[in-house]
Amino acid sequence: MAIRQLRYIGDPILRKRSKEVEEINDRIKTLLDDMVETMYENEGVGLAAPQVGVLRRVIVIDIGEGPIKLINPEIIFEEGEFIDSEGCLSIPDKAGTVKRPEKVRVKYLDENGEEKIIEGTGLLSKALCHEIDHLDGILFIDKMIEEIDTEEDEE
Ligand code: ZN
Repeated sequence: MAIRQLRYIGDPILRKRSKEVEEINDRIKTLLDDMVETMYENEGVGLAAPQVGVLRRVIVIDIGEGPIKLINPEIIFEEGEFIDSEGCLSIPDKAGTVKRPEKVRVKYLDENGEEKIIEGTGLLSKALCHEIDHLDGILFIDKMIEEIDTEEDEE
């Protein structure tokens, strides 16, 4: 595994639409492993492939319950809404409130190519929506309701 270089706001790759994965080969598996390692190194709860410069529909998430690797994730159901604070590894030192569904169901392929469905509420729902948005070039600042002063949080 290797830590990959993060892409930051202003990099045009973050605004592009990622392509579906058609074949889960060793390159994709290495990408997933590297993304997990890069996420941990940067203390994130999720990471999308464009954030490491790869325009493929691949995300990883760990909300403290172990890593989940999702290929071609797609939201198939959502319910309710809640507003919570968000940040992004690609947008350092910025945080803000965003409205997300309280519950989502996401269809995806695991690294063995098996179709799976994950249901997330609260933090997991937020993470899934945030990372899937990255695959369509959408950043949380596009949906931000109110910016949170991050310096104040550190006092
Ligand atoms: Zn992000």
